[in-house]
Amino acid sequence: MLDILCNLLGAAFLLPLGAALGSFFEVVLDRLPRGESLLWPPSHCRTCGHRLNADELIPVISYLAQRGRCRACDIPIGRGVPVREALSGLALAVPWALTGCAHPVFALGIGIALLVAVWVARGVIVSRGSTAGRGSN
Ligand SMILES: [Zn+2]
Repeated sequence: MLDILCNLLGAAFLLPLGAALGSFFEVVLDRLPRGESLLWPPSHCRTCGHRLNADELIPVISYLAQRGRCRACDIPIGRGVPVREALSGLALAVPWALTGCAHPVFALGIGIALLVAVWVARGVIVSRGSTAGRGSN
């Protein structure tokens, strides 16, 4: 019983952490190919330049709250963005939820490997010139 609770608490911590990492990797793969800084300007809509507020930067939740659109100019944000953020969260959380407290190094290792796999795959797709899923960053 204690193991199940431990696994679920760990997963509840890792889910938003993974989603936040996914959100950061989204910015990395959007900006680096353009030769842009990762730090400046802060996250903004690529169409209208609207600088995103803190409540517009919460992975997955902000997308759902804004119905997948920029709050300022209403342009759609690619559906791939929240999907990749959610996958990143699940990549870290699910292995921990299954066995994290009994085998923490194994669970984190698998989680990190899955997270890297998601973003290497995305990097390959981006490098081939796909623009699907691009939106605000
Ligand atoms: Zn906009």
